[in-house]
Amino acid sequence: MLKGKSAVITGSTSGIGLAYAKALAAEGVNVMINGFGKPEEIEFERKGLEGLGVKAVYSAADMTKPAEIAEMIATAKAELGSVDILINNAGIQYVSPIEEFPDEKWDAIIAINLSSAFHACKHAVPLMKEAGWGRIVNTASAHAKVASPFKAAYVAAKHGIAGLTKTVALEVAENNITVNAICPGYVWTPLVEKQIPDTAKSRGMTEEEVKRDVLLAAQPTKKFVTVEQVASLALYLCSDGAESITGTLISMDGGWTA
Ligand code: NAD
Repeated sequence: MLKGKSAVITGSTSGIGLAYAKALAAEGVNVMINGFGKPEEIEFERKGLEGLGVKAVYSAADMTKPAEIAEMIATAKAELGSVDILINNAGIQYVSPIEEFPDEKWDAIIAINLSSAFHACKHAVPLMKEAGWGRIVNTASAHAKVASPFKAAYVAAKHGIAGLTKTVALEVAENNITVNAICPGYVWTPLVEKQIPDTAKSRGMTEEEVKRDVLLAAQPTKKFVTVEQVASLALYLCSDGAESITGTLISMDGGWTA
């Protein structure tokens, strides 16, 4: 159904973004991946995507830089032929009480987790309108719906993504373009995995206790969401069956926000 289309996925050199790229490529979608990392590791993943029989290109665009985002979309159009699917996924986290929250961390999180999606949408929407079809999927979070303490910038950015998702959806509703946000709870990514041993040490807990009583305390299933599960929802949102789903925030959080 999606074969031959092209997708730009921001923040896709690891975790959820890479899973989106793999899932889309497996359906025959040409992909532009983006994000930071070791050049040889990024090249390994890019080649792996091409091994699925599609064109895969890499953009090193920094999501804090609007000009680089504009160039990323233009390069995707030039190299892949179109930008049919845009997945705004790049994101970072920082945890601190509000009175100590560093200004530069606030600015970086708002830029990467929120403003980059505005800039990417702004440049991709005209291409989608011209093509008469488009899908925009934003990786929001359970934190687009509820808050946790010490995450002022992240929660503000994710609530912002919710508003951006709804607004753009209304603007392009008659253009065969849908805009939705996926709101995962804790997802098992290398980033989360790496935190467990250190947290266990500092709290005097076993790694299992950290997973259950710290990370999954808010998640009733007591299970991590997997990157493949998040990617399968994105694939569905890109399908024709999801044509009438737009402007919505879909939870995949093991019951967290229930
Ligand atoms: P991750 O750290 O594995 O991936 C983040 C990606 O963003 C990487 O490819 C990284 O290189 C890229 N990135 C960071 N700064 C960038 C910049 N300035 N420019 C371009 N790329 C940049 O994390 P993840 O867990 O896969 O997170 C992906 C998205 O999912 C984020 O938006 C995050 O907020 C969201 N999310 C994650 C979880 C979770 O539990 N892991 C839960 C809900 C939402």
